[in-house]
Amino acid sequence: MTEKLENPRLILFPQTAEVNAKDHLVIGGCDTVALAEEFGTPLYVFDEVDLRARCREYKTEFGKRYPKTTISYSPKAFTTSAMLKLVEEEGLDLDIVTGGELGIARAVGFPMERVHFPDNNKSAEELKLAVKYNIGHIVVDNLPELDMLIKIAGRKKVRILLRLNPGVDPHTHKYNSTGIVDSKFGLTRTTWDEAVATALAASNLDVDGFHFHIGSGLFEVEPYLSAIDAVLEYAAEMKKKHGFEMRTLSIGGGIGVQYTVDTAPPPVAYFAEAIINNIKDQCRRLKLTPPKLIVEPGRKIVAKAGMALYTVGVIKEIPGIRTYVSVDGGMSDNIRQPMYGDWARQEAIIADRVSARNTDKVTISGKLCESGDILIKEIMLPALKAGDILAMAGSGAYAVPMQSNYNSMLRPAIVFVKDGKARLIRRRETLDDLTRRDVI
Ligand SMILES: *Cc1c(COP(=O)(O)O)cnc(C)c1O
Repeated sequence: MTEKLENPRLILFPQTAEVNAKDHLVIGGCDTVALAEEFGTPLYVFDEVDLRARCREYKTEFGKRYPKTTISYSPKAFTTSAMLKLVEEEGLDLDIVTGGELGIARAVGFPMERVHFPDNNKSAEELKLAVKYNIGHIVVDNLPELDMLIKIAGRKKVRILLRLNPGVDPHTHKYNSTGIVDSKFGLTRTTWDEAVATALAASNLDVDGFHFHIGSGLFEVEPYLSAIDAVLEYAAEMKKKHGFEMRTLSIGGGIGVQYTVDTAPPPVAYFAEAIINNIKDQCRRLKLTPPKLIVEPGRKIVAKAGMALYTVGVIKEIPGIRTYVSVDGGMSDNIRQPMYGDWARQEAIIADRVSARNTDKVTISGKLCESGDILIKEIMLPALKAGDILAMAGSGAYAVPMQSNYNSMLRPAIVFVKDGKARLIRRRETLDDLTRRDVI
């Protein structure tokens, strides 16, 4: 008889996660082992209840403290038509970063006035489309873009935010630090004055306010507070100098997610409380009218709601060194570990034996021709065998949109689960998809 344990890693899975009588992992009322059988693996599974709950958590926690808040989902974390539709239904705005994302937003009928567009190197083509569709805000990132936009806008009046780089270290992975001085993102402090003066002088620009985004995966609130201080102080300075009233402030996204059992960031409520108190205090002190607030979460909305299912294949034990457990996906469907290293550690359980005891230290590797093709470095799991279904938690953000066809892998199917039903929202790629764009 095996002893049943409550698996502590279940807290890393979506909020509807439970274990059924067969000791299988169940999400949204669906047995994940049955999902793997029905849809094949690798399979990405998203809990629709969890996704909607995260949208509502943001709206509630910021909204109840500061009613003038708009939550704008950053679809680069997980970009699919069904997700954009869900976000629209939940009343969130959209924070796109390319003409491609703008195109998907249009295709699902997302209201263009609820779309905002940051990005550090927008093309003339992208700006023209953004102007043509009358999107909510073009978030101007740099002086060349400002000049280009003034020309492109022509006789139209275009609403913009200026993205200020506040020079704040968010204490996260360096690839995810976007508000430090040495960053390609945002207007450098030395260019703020010129940007404001130029933008205010342009009769075809409506300067609605300022924007910053300091990074992704933040566990601390202090970097947000420092950035808010810097930007609000500057807003007060511009009010004195130009009589300019900042009407909107966007504080970007970036709140971190619990990916491993022993590292938990504070909840959204904690960030909301400190951020809102700081905005109110500073506005009072600086005699500024409290602006409308935009918050742009990506990772936090989708990371935990999404998981990946893989089938275990070859197990290779190198005595005294390491045991590789290879699965049928890898860096082509989730490149986080190779790209960010230990910072991006995720954890997994065996979906077909959730409560079995962890006895073996293994490394979960993919099937691609690259030694860096590792999904999880050294994790304790129950003794594995070929055919087991591995459920990898925290796969909802920055996995699917970074997928590739490296080694001509077919990108996985994605399902939304809810109330015991699974809905295919992206089919698995086929061999035809692989050659569709080729010309002989
Ligand atoms: C990526 C990005 C976000 C979202 O960041 P998360 O860490 O996923 O919340 C928000 N705003 C901008 C401008 C971004 O580039």
